[in-house]
Amino acid sequence: MAETALKKVVIIGSGFGGMRALYRLSEYHYRFEVTVVDRHDYSLERPALPEVALEDKPVEAVHIETPPQFRRHNAAFEQGEVVRIDADAQKVVLDSGTELSYDYLIIASGAVKDYDAIKGYREYGYSVCDDKEAVRLHEHLKTFESGKIVTGAAKSEFGTQVDAPPLKAPCEGPIGEVMFMLDHRLRKSGKREVSSIDVFSPSEIFFEDVGDKARAPVAKLMEKKNIALHTAKELVEITEDAVIFADGSSLPCDLAIIIPPYKAPAFIAQSGLGDDKGWVPTDKTMKHVSFDNIYAVGDVNALAQPKLGHVAINQADVAVSAILKAEDIAEEVVAFNPEVFCIMNMGGHDAVLIYSNALYNGAYDMAWHSPMAKLMKVSFDEEYHYTHGHMPPDVTVEALEEILHRFAK
Ligand SMILES: Cc1cc2nc3c(=O)[nH]c(=O)nc-3n(C[C@H](O)[C@H](O)[C@H](O)COP(=O)(O)OP(=O)(O)OC[C@H]3O[C@@H](n4cnc5c(N)ncnc54)[C@H](O)[C@@H]3O)c2cc1C
Repeated sequence: MAETALKKVVIIGSGFGGMRALYRLSEYHYRFEVTVVDRHDYSLERPALPEVALEDKPVEAVHIETPPQFRRHNAAFEQGEVVRIDADAQKVVLDSGTELSYDYLIIASGAVKDYDAIKGYREYGYSVCDDKEAVRLHEHLKTFESGKIVTGAAKSEFGTQVDAPPLKAPCEGPIGEVMFMLDHRLRKSGKREVSSIDVFSPSEIFFEDVGDKARAPVAKLMEKKNIALHTAKELVEITEDAVIFADGSSLPCDLAIIIPPYKAPAFIAQSGLGDDKGWVPTDKTMKHVSFDNIYAVGDVNALAQPKLGHVAINQADVAVSAILKAEDIAEEVVAFNPEVFCIMNMGGHDAVLIYSNALYNGAYDMAWHSPMAKLMKVSFDEEYHYTHGHMPPDVTVEALEEILHRFAK
């Protein structure tokens, strides 16, 4: 029998989406030759960044080295910066001049955090959204004892080409973690009474990506902990002593911790692959609306709303199953199932697990405040760490989701 030629797959990005796509594809290593390209030789475990900033977790612990995974999963690794995709010639171009040809391309390059869009951020603002900023905040907190703390997400812009909910903030979970973890930290140091914590959201509803049943317990906890909420506030500037909003209002502030606007990586638009705001428009099999052999998963995909690791993983499963179907290896394409599954660290032994598909008119919506949620967060993070970027076994996640699903209805 004649051997089938291996199909070349290039994956851009080794975050949640890219690594998941690799794991799924490697089960069919006899059919695919996979190359992963990333500027780093590690995967950044973003959900643990608040712990780097606020709980002394060493930054090295959130850099999960990827080359051992590439070796284990029969993939080649090209370290470098992608500057262009030539969709007609089926090539990915790196800044070194290297060109990688592909039969299938999976773009999993995440979102860019646009700190410079907020005036004054570089002088007076802080964030937990990437490793450099989390370390910078950690350093600053060594000398910051108490004061007026303001935290919230800036408004992001999304296109209109695909049918995704128009969220103003694509991921407010880290704001929840920052407010609760700072509250815990200040209580521990005896400085809570001389400090204030104000939270703002660009939308009319804080956590607009979940439903009322998930939001209500969080609102109750905020009230109990004396954390004030200001909605419909679009951040425009941070000064030495205030944060300023588009409507002209401001909040006095000694420490501003923000999520900056998310934007799509520039090479997407420069390659003619973006929607009106530069995000990759795909159908619900994660296939580009104009190119049959280009897929996009994770934060870079216009359909990824909210922008979560959990959504990136689901989209990677969908994209790989669509490629398997295109190659007559599988019959079914996995369903796109956007939902929020997020564990918010609250400091100490406390955490809240949020599980909801209410944004997509689904039937489950819950928040579970319990030390058990903290235990789950630690064990998921540790699993990712010790297995060098592997997700917890599907069976564990599926069993947990099944239990939560019943509980959340
Ligand atoms: C502080 C924080 C906490 C979070 N907590 C949670 C949580 O608890 N649960 C949850 O589900 N989600 C959480 N999220 C969201 C989650 O981290 C993201 O949704 C997820 O990382 C997206 O995965 P991705 O694979 O799309 O992109 P990323 O993880 O951003 O990975 C993209 C990869 O592409 C590479 N890359 C990008 N551009 C190029 C280029 N031009 N050339 C070469 N390489 C490139 C990058 O180096 C990176 O490795 C959190 C986010 C933040 C910021």
